[in-house]
Amino acid sequence: MTVDVAKTRHPYLDGKPKRLLIDGKWLEAASGKTFETINPATGELLAQVAEGGAEDIDLAVAAARRAFEGAWGRTKPYERQKILLRLADLLEKNFEEFAALDTIDMGAPITRTRGNQQRAVGMLRYYAGQAVSIHGETVDNSLPGEFVSYTLKEPVGVIGAIIPWNAPLSSSIWKIGPALATGCTVVLKPAEEAPLTPLRLGELCLEAGVPPGVVNVVPGFGETAGAALAAHHGVDKVAFTGSHFTGQKIVQASSGNLKRVSLELGGKSPDIVFADADLEAAVPGAAMAVFANSGQICSAGTRLFVERKVYEEFTARVAAYGKSLRVGDGRDDMTQVGPLVSSEQLERVTGYLAIGRQEGAKPLAGGERLTEGALSKGFFVPPTVFANVNDEMRIAQEEIFGPVISAIPFDDIEEVARRANATSFGLGSGVWTRDVTKAHKLARAIRAGSVWINCYQAMDPAMPFGGYKLSGYGREGGKDHVNEYLNVKAVWIKTG
Ligand code: ADP
Repeated sequence: MTVDVAKTRHPYLDGKPKRLLIDGKWLEAASGKTFETINPATGELLAQVAEGGAEDIDLAVAAARRAFEGAWGRTKPYERQKILLRLADLLEKNFEEFAALDTIDMGAPITRTRGNQQRAVGMLRYYAGQAVSIHGETVDNSLPGEFVSYTLKEPVGVIGAIIPWNAPLSSSIWKIGPALATGCTVVLKPAEEAPLTPLRLGELCLEAGVPPGVVNVVPGFGETAGAALAAHHGVDKVAFTGSHFTGQKIVQASSGNLKRVSLELGGKSPDIVFADADLEAAVPGAAMAVFANSGQICSAGTRLFVERKVYEEFTARVAAYGKSLRVGDGRDDMTQVGPLVSSEQLERVTGYLAIGRQEGAKPLAGGERLTEGALSKGFFVPPTVFANVNDEMRIAQEEIFGPVISAIPFDDIEEVARRANATSFGLGSGVWTRDVTKAHKLARAIRAGSVWINCYQAMDPAMPFGGYKLSGYGREGGKDHVNEYLNVKAVWIKTG
């Protein structure tokens, strides 16, 4: 297949294969292999991409190690801050291009990828601030005699960053930003479904003055490039975002050199609506907690618990809201729900639609793949609301990663707290109520990394995000994130 550049009309797509970024140079894969990346809305080929493998990962890790042990490891915080601020400015200047690249490579509506500007650029500026805010502590000790004791914060070293496809730009920044702030170096392995934005961000890093070897980008498949990076003894920490199945493999692969690991994994997040809530706000809130990004968000509020007295009314309104959303090609400004990222993802989600029906759940909206007209070429599933769901059904327990709500009735707060926690995951959660006591009670009771009250999916560079239980460990965003990239060293001086 050849690339039809005219059709895609994106400046980054010039018909040439995309290469790996290793040590500041753009290289073909050692194997010479490439893979295709396509637009999930149309099936059209966007680019051939060099397929990194174990040999390329070796080269990239060696480059990252040299950079870490060389001049980069000795940069002053102020210099790292300057680079991050330059990168932020460049991203801001080129944002429309980045938004469009995310949209064509993974399908999200352009209004969504464009709307990410403040956060994406803001993250880089936040890390720029953090770069000059790293400090240890002087600690009083009780030893007999005279000792001074203090701590130093030091960069962990070479970071192996493995990201998924559902938010390529933000995920890349979440790995590169803290690495640059702390003086670490990175080998970034983008997802095979959406490698273009991370590669383009690699170009921008070089333009911003990131020295060779500090940021390396090696696309490739999970079982080859990803596995090689996770197991590599030259890597000091793996920062992973993806499914919990892969997260478990990463932990196993990390055991060879006991590298540090942080994991941001999947979820089956409860979103709890009380009858006393502002339903005008809760209807679109609960709907978009799942339909945004076609449900391809790890913290999507897919288990919708609704107080029984408003269950029928509320689920009908959410279903009507879902039906009113415009499904289509993400490049269209009017599109509110784009395609799923790939045929595999389509198969997985339609599989769950069938399971839901077999389990006795009742689709109030959606429920089938879209096969009419232009949409038949892409991987489109419309917003789906299943009613008559109970806690034991697979659609109430397993992560679907599609625009599918499982709506479940409940009667009181203690009961819903217990049922909300009856899951292996613990990433996001939502509570809709006008009663501040209920809100605070649930904020404490729910075992999840984020609790959103009268909103859903609010994110800010300064706030931590991450999981409990099978949703992983470690935090991204905020000071906790920066600490994930730092070691603490204790220094003792006998002064007497
Ligand atoms: P998803 O199911 O959302 O695609 P995955 O966890 O499979 O999530 O993928 C997330 C990232 O993990 C991707 O970059 C993928 O290539 C990578 N990956 C998949 N399998 C492995 C593995 N065995 N080791 C390391 N990385 C992997």
